Amino acid sequence: MEEVKPDVRALAFARQALKNLFMKPATTSYPFEPASYPERMRGHVELVAEDCIGCGLCMRSCPPGAIRVDRQEGIWSINRFDCVQCESCVNACPKKCLKMAAGYTQPETEKAEERFEILKKQEK
Ligand code: SF4
Ligand code: SF4
Repeated sequence: MEEVKPDVRALAFARQALKNLFMKPATTSYPFEPASYPERMRGHVELVAEDCIGCGLCMRSCPPGAIRVDRQEGIWSINRFDCVQCESCVNACPKKCLKMAAGYTQPETEKAEERFEILKKQEK
């Protein structure tokens, strides 16, 4: 194998370094600038609580157990830090009231459940 001479590499490095001085940065200023997300990104789960019938299929299909459905209390809850964005709950939902939406869960110091009231329509 032919040996690459060090001066050739130094020249290539210097050329790239000079080029970088005049190029736009490859990184963005997030969170000071809003992030742009790719199309079809599986960022987080969203629920349309009014359409949920509390069947619990999403809870049963969730591999890490991030979703909890309590029919008695009328509460659908998700621990977003346990969610692995697999989309299994979305595919299991018979009412199509779950979807994967763009945008990541904001960082927190503690895991917390996000709770939604469901079955309000049935109460009327
Ligand atoms: S996307 Fe996957 S991990 Fe996240 S809540 Fe749904 S089933 Fe659970
Ligand atoms: S979100 Fe869908 S699958 Fe989950 S309890 Fe409600 S209706 Fe059932």
